Amino acid sequence: MLKLVSLNKSFTGGEVKTTALDRVSLDIGAGEYLAITGPSGCGKSTLLSVLGLFETCDSGEYWFDGRDIAGWSEMELNKLRRGRIGFIFQDFNLLEELSVAENVELALAYTDVPRQERRERVAALLDRLGIAHRARHRPSQLSGGQQQRVAIARALVARPALLLADEPTGNLDTAHGNEVMRLLRQINDEGTAVVMVTHSPEHAAQAGRTVRMRDGRIEADGAVLMQVAS
Ligand code: ADP
Repeated sequence: MLKLVSLNKSFTGGEVKTTALDRVSLDIGAGEYLAITGPSGCGKSTLLSVLGLFETCDSGEYWFDGRDIAGWSEMELNKLRRGRIGFIFQDFNLLEELSVAENVELALAYTDVPRQERRERVAALLDRLGIAHRARHRPSQLSGGQQQRVAIARALVARPALLLADEPTGNLDTAHGNEVMRLLRQINDEGTAVVMVTHSPEHAAQAGRTVRMRDGRIEADGAVLMQVAS
């Protein structure tokens, strides 16, 4: 579904040049569940932003659904992102001036989903995630765990093929974090590819595959041997 070939990305601030991604090559198949791990500053968030089409890279190739996106306009990239990619963040990134339902529906703006269907999809997702009774509330009136569920609903409402998650449990207590991990598992079981940045070895172990990064490079990439409790 997605292929990166020798991607490079650096940031220049004043005299200093930081290499965030150094010849990163990665293949992600439809429906895969992949965890990205590694020490702080190794390039995990940059990789996720590039995958999510929020950042462009300096050189290398990025193929999505068999198409090389090099040279695509901002409008074409936005369209691809809106239709195919969902994103959840550590700090939820919900808009406080909108209600919970409006936050979720916003992800369908500029799509060709008809108005009535938008409402139905939002209602069904809020119901599924156990927050239908909060639809008219503002995000700050909800607990952290509930806010992350709103963010998950927003990420899923356009039915993406790929869900990107940047430390989605980082601001949650253990119980709510585990709840989010269960949801990601379910979402993946239903066929959506999930790419998650995490510091937690237990959470990484729930993915089928772990990519370990160091200094902007992929240091290890492999299937995780799940430990089965006996
Ligand atoms: P991680 O997510 O693994 O902590 P990042 O992808 O955030 O790592 O950062 C990788 C490197 O790129 C770091 O050295 C970081 O300081 C640098 N970096 C990331 N974003 C920017 C930016 N917008 N401007 C300058 N440097 C950046």
